[in-house]
Amino acid sequence: MRIRIETLPEPGFAVSVGPSKMTLLAYADYTRRDGEETRLGVWEVECKTCGEPFTTRMTSHILPETKRCEKHRRPVRGASK
Ligand SMILES: [Zn+2]
Repeated sequence: MRIRIETLPEPGFAVSVGPSKMTLLAYADYTRRDGEETRLGVWEVECKTCGEPFTTRMTSHILPETKRCEKHRRPVRGASK
């Protein structure tokens, strides 16, 4: 489920979604494959399983969906090409 943010938060903004706390650290410029320039939010998220914070990048305006660190992330079936 994607959670859209209406107003872009400032770095330092923290939000809790269920048991996971997310903190926006910064924005990063990013050029998409189609050449369009956009900004990504760099988020620090607490792993749902071990509680360790990890960073993930997400299109601005969308809260990160990943709530587990790489160690505890389940491989997504059918995602490999
Ligand atoms: Zn973990």
